[in-house]
Amino acid sequence: MRISLDVRVPTPAIWIHAAALAIRAVTVNGEKAEVMQGGNDLVGIRVPRALPAGAATVVIDYSGAITADGDRGLLSLEESGHRYAFAAMEPIDARRIFPCFDEPSFKAPWKIRLEVKRDDMALSNAPAISEAISGDHKVVQFAETKPLPSYLVALAVGPFDAVDAGIAGKNRVPVRILVPRGRGAEARFAKEVTGPLLNRIEAYLDMPYPYEKLDFVNVPHFGGAMESPGLVTFAQKFLLSRPDEETGQFQRNYATIAAHELAHHWFGDLVTMAWWNDLWLNEAFAPWMADRIVDAWKPEWHQDAQHAAERVNSMAADDVAGGRRLRQPIESKDDMADVWGEAMYGKGATVLDMFEQWVGDAFRQGLRRYLATYAHGNATAEQFLETALRDAPPATVQAFASFLNQPGVPQVEVSLRCEAGRPPALELTQSGKAGKTDAMWQIPVCARYPGKHNEATSCTLLAARQGQLVLDDAATCPAWVNANSDARGYYRVRYLGNLFEKLLATPQALTRAERVALLGDLGAQARSGASSYADVLAAASKLADDPSFHVAASTIDWVVQMPDAQLLSEVHRPNYARFVRDTYGARAKRLGFAPRAGEAEDDALLRPKVLLFVADSGEDPALRAEAKAMAERWLKGQGTIPPALVQTVLFIAGRSGDRAMLDLMRNAAHARGASNRKDRNVILRAMGQFRQPDTLRAALASILTDDFDVRESIAIFSGTQKTAATRQVAFDFVKEHYDALMARLPKDDSTFDLAAQMPELVGASFCDAAHATDVETFFRERSARHAGGARGLARAVDAVNACATYRALQAPNVAAFLTAIKDGSGRKTTDGQANRSASSPR
Ligand SMILES: [Zn+2]
Repeated sequence: MRISLDVRVPTPAIWIHAAALAIRAVTVNGEKAEVMQGGNDLVGIRVPRALPAGAATVVIDYSGAITADGDRGLLSLEESGHRYAFAAMEPIDARRIFPCFDEPSFKAPWKIRLEVKRDDMALSNAPAISEAISGDHKVVQFAETKPLPSYLVALAVGPFDAVDAGIAGKNRVPVRILVPRGRGAEARFAKEVTGPLLNRIEAYLDMPYPYEKLDFVNVPHFGGAMESPGLVTFAQKFLLSRPDEETGQFQRNYATIAAHELAHHWFGDLVTMAWWNDLWLNEAFAPWMADRIVDAWKPEWHQDAQHAAERVNSMAADDVAGGRRLRQPIESKDDMADVWGEAMYGKGATVLDMFEQWVGDAFRQGLRRYLATYAHGNATAEQFLETALRDAPPATVQAFASFLNQPGVPQVEVSLRCEAGRPPALELTQSGKAGKTDAMWQIPVCARYPGKHNEATSCTLLAARQGQLVLDDAATCPAWVNANSDARGYYRVRYLGNLFEKLLATPQALTRAERVALLGDLGAQARSGASSYADVLAAASKLADDPSFHVAASTIDWVVQMPDAQLLSEVHRPNYARFVRDTYGARAKRLGFAPRAGEAEDDALLRPKVLLFVADSGEDPALRAEAKAMAERWLKGQGTIPPALVQTVLFIAGRSGDRAMLDLMRNAAHARGASNRKDRNVILRAMGQFRQPDTLRAALASILTDDFDVRESIAIFSGTQKTAATRQVAFDFVKEHYDALMARLPKDDSTFDLAAQMPELVGASFCDAAHATDVETFFRERSARHAGGARGLARAVDAVNACATYRALQAPNVAAFLTAIKDGSGRKTTDGQANRSASSPR
């Protein structure tokens, strides 16, 4: 490895990142240098005489390992009998592959040369410029890259098939999808849409794609996607689908993730954060841009409603006691390990959306200026604010900073004042906590209401505790007001008076996103104790028949939480099941397990969710029996399941299934899963769904055998967290087999350590103080051994305690609600509930 340095001040030594590399010799400007060990992450290079300022060349002779069972660094992975090699470098694993200055501000051009087997394809960020064959090997030289930080360098080697996806962008860049050998047909959708998505981002930003080629490559054993410029890595389930199994959900997932990774080529790759504390400059912009691009491309997908649903989750993640800011100091590996959380992506994207609405078209102009100013370099939050918000309304920078520099979700209390002789106005009061302390934000608040001619939107900046929003286009006191227009604001609304009931009475006046947010805000108020869960249930049942998939699905998310959070006691379970059947059963039955040609896409998307919900939570015997029969035939290879329903059918079969069903699943995961990663993964997750303790224990035991790769079988745990009893089985299993389990997990000692995630995987869903203590006691010392482990444990314990509080607050309300529906139809009584609560403020 040869590094050209520009030495700024004379120095006797150079410190460089290297982890688990064997360094044999180093020269500096041709002179032999001494190597000093600097712990696990650094080596020092000492030169005989102090190195003067100016140009210097360091040559390092070293070797490193390629791992077959790890997750980070240089990986050797098998797929259908072929070997592939990949690099996983973000955030700090490039140092496991080559010595480097492994920090984002060290952007440099890279010249990469790979020696590989003659028949393999070798890929990196830049195009190959030469290939020299020698025997059964070849040496591939790649063109020099644009300046890149180490974490964005990419390598992939193997017998790929390359699918030509055409030419895209103003610079006519070739686009390809690289797939495991023989699977080109599965890239159909990626081939069709990747170029057009890139064109749309270019047009929005008015700046050509900044690199010379674009390859998307599938990495087996990988859960997400990574935006290394020119060579983006992708999980199989997101990139590939057999054409006859290509569901609407697959298409949405692919397009959203592809747009996210493409957006990173500007936000992250072209302009890189100067340090990891500004990761939001990458991870807020990519999902924000993806939503914008996908929404404009496929308005019928209602990406804004999808975003509103994700916003509910990120707000919940941002609400916790130890919440992290968007801009968070990063000083250790522990800090690094928990920065890629839900609060980062969803909060970041919503905050950008809110300020885009507030600033108007100058926002887009500002982004273009920011990208042009810092192209191929680095930027900080201050530089972004100063460059991008230069033409924004006064106080925008301070307002933006109030969302960057403190965690938490503001709540805005809203009441409507209509007085003769004055335009109607909303009285606004903000409250909220940043972590454990009270906090203030400067919030752009936009409200939508019936105006003089059409629907109108009015906005104000709520910069103090209290403020007022004049509805200047209202002719009279408006029939309804939605105080978070299009759900684009990062704040929750608490409606006073009868404003909430007016919205619930005319839900079709609201957009899909607004309906999702309305329910989300109400649910959050139940969590904090500001409203009754009975009100959430009443609102959910009122919106349950909503034709929109996103709205109906979000009602299910709230109802399904009851048993998850143990708000439901066993005596009320029959009534709960009846409530679920009464509210959702007819729709589930009408949709059935067989998709119909020409049906509404909302129906197709809702089908898997509502069937699982009514069969499981609703305990519907007919749906269970049908799913069981389908699962048996499918697992034996004797029948098909509609592609969108495979997971639903297997989950129902698991949750109501016995040992015989588990054996069928395990055999099928071996037999058909051997060549089909997608089937294998869904079966493994279904194996975690069993409710019979002995059967579940038998399923978990698979994690400790060589039957499956532990990087896949660890997913069995995810299904165990739905009930108190199965949580206990999983936690007991981990306690009993902890050392054996640890011995099987990848030993990367890295940022995304599976071992560090164990407390959250099997401990965070409990809902009582005794378990908080139990989880803390068991994991305290064990988790501390892994980067990010102590933080993960603290989060798990916080979550358990928060759930216990929630349960104490709301279990009585749930009991009262379910008792009231004992003798009648749930539907009828829930309407009664909605009326009853009409007089109480929320
Ligand atoms: Zn990203």
